[in-house]
Amino acid sequence: MAVITLRNSQKPKILSWVLIYWRILLFITLTNKRRRDKMATIIQKGTLVTASETLRADLKIDNGKISMISDQIKEENEDIIIDATNKYVFPGLIDPHTHLGIEGTLDDFESGTKAAASGGVTTVINFTDPNNSQTFLEDLAEWREKAKSSIIDYGFHSIINKCNSAVLEEIYKLPDEGVTSIKLFMAYKENMVNDEELYLLMKAAKQAGVVTNIHAENGRVIDQLIDEALNNNNTDPINHACTRPPGLEAEAVARALRIAEVTEAPTYIVHISSEEAMEEFIRAKERGVQAFGETCPQYLVLNENYLKKDAKEAVKYICSPPLRTLKDQKILWNNINSEMISTIGSDHASHPYLNGKENGIDNFTKAPNGLPGIESTLLLLYHYGVYEGRITLPKLVEITSRNPASIFGLHPRKGCLKVGSDGDVVIFDPSKSTVISKETQKQGTEYNIYEGMELQGSIDYVLSRGEIIVKENEVVGTSGRGKYLFRNKFNEFSDEGGQ
Ligand SMILES: [Zn+2]
Repeated sequence: MAVITLRNSQKPKILSWVLIYWRILLFITLTNKRRRDKMATIIQKGTLVTASETLRADLKIDNGKISMISDQIKEENEDIIIDATNKYVFPGLIDPHTHLGIEGTLDDFESGTKAAASGGVTTVINFTDPNNSQTFLEDLAEWREKAKSSIIDYGFHSIINKCNSAVLEEIYKLPDEGVTSIKLFMAYKENMVNDEELYLLMKAAKQAGVVTNIHAENGRVIDQLIDEALNNNNTDPINHACTRPPGLEAEAVARALRIAEVTEAPTYIVHISSEEAMEEFIRAKERGVQAFGETCPQYLVLNENYLKKDAKEAVKYICSPPLRTLKDQKILWNNINSEMISTIGSDHASHPYLNGKENGIDNFTKAPNGLPGIESTLLLLYHYGVYEGRITLPKLVEITSRNPASIFGLHPRKGCLKVGSDGDVVIFDPSKSTVISKETQKQGTEYNIYEGMELQGSIDYVLSRGEIIVKENEVVGTSGRGKYLFRNKFNEFSDEGGQ
């Protein structure tokens, strides 16, 4: 700190002194900035967890990238030091399935990515929402604009809800815009594509180096079941599950993957929820279909009994596919370990309770589908997965970071702890615990579907490209610091495996 004392009686020269003083201040400010830019962050004495191993090591981040991993890294004066003794150091999570910024929901990209960051997520791949008055490339441009307030890095999957020659042309152009995945729906009238369209779109996606995400439920039969339920006055929330039986999820998985087999398109089935769907998925994988399976924390942790609660409470849990049985839960966990389920997506959709979910109390079809949960994935998977002995620590990293990065063209920039990768890191304290509550959550909803759960583990720090964005439950990253990610085409990366 420089201190300049102006000595009395030199009034005529006061102006030049002020000028000198101002120049010194400017010099100090610029030097400090240069120093800050050069400053590295060193995470010391932590247990690094990768998709293949756990190791005790220090990790250094320089200019936003991991620059060194070693037994002991020497600190220099200016470095920021984080002591991670007895803590785990995970790569930041990649949530490949989010619906931030959807009209009528409570989380835009700022609040939604703040919530995500507080839960250890450092990258989201969000879905666009088709606006039928514009092209899919125009949709994408609009969504990129919306996402500029993000505090973490982000990319998009383009939802495609129709098929014609102009649309097929557009699919070839998506990779130039950084989008290397599309999503097709086999349910929901407004977005559903038929089998011919599935075939044509998947074929184009394959040729364009684009992964096809599929919402697999037989929407046409489900719509019949819904009509029958309403005609019979079966309107309670549990009827949401009754009208979307697992067999109709399984049928759509089987059909989608048979078409994938013919087109050889890499195909990613989102939110697998049931044993029946899993069976069809496994059958296709065993035939050699290039299929990837995703499930969500809600299918691993919650079950259909939540839909049998009092209607006022049960409506909060309406999502598609619906919550299933305890047996389905067990099968999903087993299939994480047998490598059939590759990734976990939150499927975050922050529908409000007031003027939203509550509309379904007397008629389940009036409740918007989807659950909020972007900030709970790591805590839930650590507690119910690692702490309760269902999965190992490396498996946790594999399904939440490593695999989504590989499948969606972000590896090795994201999803691993490697020299040269982005400094996206979570420092996790397994000795503390966290109680989930709407009072402390960061997401915008008036409720939390995991309310009151006491989970082992706590998130101490989250770093995005080396910058601390979460510190002891406080989100300190600023809106707009997140970057748009241009993702590689499918399989266009040098996969060295391991970490
Ligand atoms: Zn979704």
